[in-house]
Amino acid sequence: MDAALLVLHEPPMTIEAANPAASRLFGLELGPLPSAAAHLGAEVPEALRAAMEGATARGEARAVLRLPCRTTHGVRTLTFSLGALPEAPGRWLATVFPAVAGQGEWPSSLAEILHALPVGVELYDRDLNALLYNKASDDLFFYPEHAVVHFEDWWSLGFPDPKVRALVVEEWRQRMAAVARDPESIQQTEWLVRCRDGTDRAVQFRFRWVGQTYVLVLSDVTAQRQLEQDLRRLAGSDPLTGLLNRRRFLEQAEAEFAAPLEETDLSMLMLDIDHFKAINDAHGHATGDAVISIVAELCRQILRSEDAIARMGGEEFAVLMPHAGPRMAMALADRLIAEVAHAPVAVGERRIPVQLSIGGTSRCAADGSVFDVLARADRALYAAKNAGRNRAIFMS
Ligand code: GH3
Ligand code: MG
Ligand code: MG
Repeated sequence: MDAALLVLHEPPMTIEAANPAASRLFGLELGPLPSAAAHLGAEVPEALRAAMEGATARGEARAVLRLPCRTTHGVRTLTFSLGALPEAPGRWLATVFPAVAGQGEWPSSLAEILHALPVGVELYDRDLNALLYNKASDDLFFYPEHAVVHFEDWWSLGFPDPKVRALVVEEWRQRMAAVARDPESIQQTEWLVRCRDGTDRAVQFRFRWVGQTYVLVLSDVTAQRQLEQDLRRLAGSDPLTGLLNRRRFLEQAEAEFAAPLEETDLSMLMLDIDHFKAINDAHGHATGDAVISIVAELCRQILRSEDAIARMGGEEFAVLMPHAGPRMAMALADRLIAEVAHAPVAVGERRIPVQLSIGGTSRCAADGSVFDVLARADRALYAAKNAGRNRAIFMS
């Protein structure tokens, strides 16, 4: 397998750049490019121009043609796969498949099959010079800025952030060392990559050596990752309020609790709407639901962005407050009570007075797990109810 890459420009039909495989194949001096495409044969410029014009007339950016060309091995029929370079009028990238010694010519149908595959396929020579990009690869990585002629050209385009790039390149080098140790193995990884359209996409890469050819297969899994993220969010949220549900809240609380006590304060609030049964009884269950949603939204507005707010069930909420000690937790609890009491909680024409009771606590050295903190916040809530409701009580 040996394929060549040319950047062509027309008019006039010149060769602007060539990879080492192309230089070897056509006997091109790497120095004096651009050179006339007629170097490849007298008929070649006209045939290439006709193919490009034909594709442009059809509104396509691709063309495949077979041409007898002058090569360093004599005249050979070669397959040219042409792709218009985006935002570079008149410039085309040609992937050229030469005859494979002893096996006849590279079949153009195989190139067409590669271009029709729903996964990206990229082939590179032993020195990682590009041999072939199929169409799915072009769709992702055919950057308007410049063509990637060598694998290393890709890093700065795909990973504009130098810190991210350094990590990715290091991972790739380790994986390359692993495939070098075990040539039968296939490496697989996934990176968030800046693509030709300027978006960052989750792309899965699988690669290995096949003889002297470095083969890279890539799949865009962005939609799948987005769906997984949506499903994870839905599985952890309460459908009425969009707040965290009890299970996700407890997961997050346990994760926060794992940080050493001396590193950060951690506080917890338990909230319960006062006399909610009366609201349901007076206005109906649907209005009760609307009140729960309004209170949830007020909590979201008043609390800090780092606070995790959950609907634990019914009209009961919990708040996990990282980096908050007793003073901050109580200040926020008092503000919640005051603002909910003064907020115009209105459902349709009706204005419904709403009051909250809150129990608060902060993590202390004796707490063995987050459930100890939760139980104390619950006891504080119970105390606030017993003390007459519409208040916050803190227990340490
Ligand atoms: P307290 O001041 O002691 O909290 O009195 P309360 O009436 O609010 O009593 P409690 O918290 O024990 O009961 C809450 C009631 O809320 C019980 C149930 O009828 C009602 N409820 C529970 N879940 C929902 C819900 O999803 N929607 C509505 N509309 N009502 C609910
Ligand atoms: Mg209640
Ligand atoms: Mg309740």
